[in-house]
Amino acid sequence: MADENPTIALIAHDGKKADMVAFAMDHKAILSRYRLLATGTTGQLLAEKVGLDIELQLSGPIGGDAQIGAAVAEHRVKAVFFFIDPLGKHPHDPDIQMLMRICNVHNVPLATNPATAAAIIEAFAR
Ligand code: PGA
Repeated sequence: MADENPTIALIAHDGKKADMVAFAMDHKAILSRYRLLATGTTGQLLAEKVGLDIELQLSGPIGGDAQIGAAVAEHRVKAVFFFIDPLGKHPHDPDIQMLMRICNVHNVPLATNPATAAAIIEAFAR
């Protein structure tokens, strides 16, 4: 069931959290029009450093990616901005793959780097 309030999900691996904060600063005005879900540490940073109102999920490695995957599967998310560190190893790689797969199953826009996220958010703004 689709949500009344359009939602964007935000996740960044540790090596990409600074990029996520910079992206959110640059696009704060449009992001703040959405309900925002984020994994624990990413969300805390976005709340503290950017001042966004975030619904915090669990931290990624303990299930936050899985929670966001469930929300995507239930058609409660309009886009996922998931800044992946391609040079890092991640203990929760199965959850990462699951979230990306679920976005593809349900044809939900998925940005895995800031350039794609900017293209999507700018398209939403038009
Ligand atoms: P975090 O999770 O925001 O809690 O660090 C992100 C992730 O690694 O999936």
